[in-house]
Formats: sequence, C-alpha cells, structure tokens
Amino acid sequence: MSRETSIRALLVEEREQLLARFNKRAADLEALVRARRNESDDDEHDPEGETLSAQWSMRAGLLESAREDLQQADNALKRLDAGQYGECAACNHPIPAGQLEVRPFRERCVACTP
Ligand SMILES: [Zn+2]
Repeated sequence: MSRETSIRALLVEEREQLLARFNKRAADLEALVRARRNESDDDEHDPEGETLSAQWSMRAGLLESAREDLQQADNALKRLDAGQYGECAACNHPIPAGQLEVRPFRERCVACTP
C-alpha cells in the first residue's frame, strides 16, 4: 500500500465516523425539536421548558462542531486529491508527520494555527 493509499484509507475511515456522529447528533436535535413542538401545544406552563431550551443549545452546539469536523475531513480528502495533503495552507511547508498523526485533518502546521 502506498503512503497516499494508506492516508486515504485513514481519512475515509475517520470521515465515516464523523459522519455517523453528525447523523446521530442531528437525530438527537430533531428528537428534541419534536419534544419542544409537543410542549408548545400545551397551554399550561411546563417547568421542563427551560431545561429543553438549555438542552437544545447544547445539542445544536454539538451538531455544529460535528459539522465543522466533517467539513475538515472533506477538505482533507480534497487536498489529498489535489496532491496538497500534508502541506501547510499558510506557509506551504510540509506539516510534520507527528502533527498529522494527532490530527489527520490538519490544514496548517502548529506554528501557523491561529
Ligand atoms: Zn505553516
């Protein structure tokens, strides 16, 4: 297996995990939205309303971060296709292998990461 093939396999596998996480979080949020809708049909004040809205912002945040991770995975695969994987997007130097091992979707070297 060439280096590129093994990197691709790793990225694709990680991306699948991220996609599964994204879908799970989307489903969690959807379930909560449904619970909220049922709640607003109810005229009486529901003491759980506050909790639901706190849960909603938490889950929306989790979903958003899963979406960003997924986007990074897509970008990494695009860079691999373009032969730019492992090259820092800011300084154009190769990103040290150790940094890529920790975060395979990294676009910039540690020095260039804001
Ligand atoms: Zn750099």
